[in-house]
Amino acid sequence: MKQMLRKALFILVLLVAPVAELCAATGKWEVFSVRGVDYVRLDDVWSFYRFSKREGRPGFISYGAGDRTVSLRPSKQDFYVNNYRYILSYPVISENGMLLISTIDMSKLVDPVLRPRLTKSGKITTVVLDPGHGGHDSGAVSRYAREKDCNLALGLKVRRKLEAAGFKVVMTRDKDFFLTLGERVAIANRTPDCIFVSLHHNSGGSSASGIETFTLAPHGTTSPFARTRRTEDLAGNNQDSENIALATAVHSHSIKKTGAIDRGIQRARFSVLCTIKRPAILFEGGFVTNQQEGSKISSDNYQDILAQCICDGIVRYTYNTRHRPSSYRRGGSGSVRAGSSLHSGYVPHARGTSLR
Ligand SMILES: [Zn+2]
Repeated sequence: MKQMLRKALFILVLLVAPVAELCAATGKWEVFSVRGVDYVRLDDVWSFYRFSKREGRPGFISYGAGDRTVSLRPSKQDFYVNNYRYILSYPVISENGMLLISTIDMSKLVDPVLRPRLTKSGKITTVVLDPGHGGHDSGAVSRYAREKDCNLALGLKVRRKLEAAGFKVVMTRDKDFFLTLGERVAIANRTPDCIFVSLHHNSGGSSASGIETFTLAPHGTTSPFARTRRTEDLAGNNQDSENIALATAVHSHSIKKTGAIDRGIQRARFSVLCTIKRPAILFEGGFVTNQQEGSKISSDNYQDILAQCICDGIVRYTYNTRHRPSSYRRGGSGSVRAGSSLHSGYVPHARGTSLR
């Protein structure tokens, strides 16, 4: 048990369930510190959610209950819930015959996604749409498409659909001009009761394709997409759970309706995500550098489909965050919550969205 030092509290907070039911779940979780990261046993996770083993993705370990299946694999960070892909902050590890998942992933990703309705959120009346780049900054460019044009065309279509659905919409840009990242964030931060959706398209090798959605990396975790040299700056924000819920809603609608390759809901410290004080995502709608996808994302018809996916995802997110049932009994009882001494950046997760 080298380096596996600590038996600390990974507290189950009793919210809705009777005590007997809570005890029947797990009662207390053992936390193991491995190379500076806190983990819990996956066996305890399955027990808590009352999941049993089932057939799932080839090469993955799959557990689930009812219409919900979770799949993951040792040494990897990809994590699936009902076939939608997430990227964990830390790989699942195997120590002394036990499979372990980090407590930060449990409290910031797994539990808010599996039990979204245990959470709370403020009212949302407005969507700030941020078509990336503009003016002299074209973003990704290929012979098939120019990112700034695709971002703007998609944003204008999303605006029309959101307004038809009853939202107020603020565009950071509605024409081809340049804004700094700070100006984009400032617009959102001074807009009350809003969420922030930054719209981008990707570049990569000619075969790279698919949709990916970014949310801010949780406090204290590193990210492969830091885009900052301040390695000491690993701050999170107060919207972790709203961020992951919004990402889940928009991303899952988009993957389901377009059939695009699912590159996952990922963590990043992009500038627009770091300083935002509203629930926020950065959505990458496809690769301008891929011949087939580049042609699609610059077409009016596909932009219309993608815009509808984004609008539907936002509607789903706000619908779920408006409703907080007095008791919610799917999965295990109580709430997975890290003790403050273990996770200074922990924020109780907020109301989210379902995967269905
Ligand atoms: Zn971009």
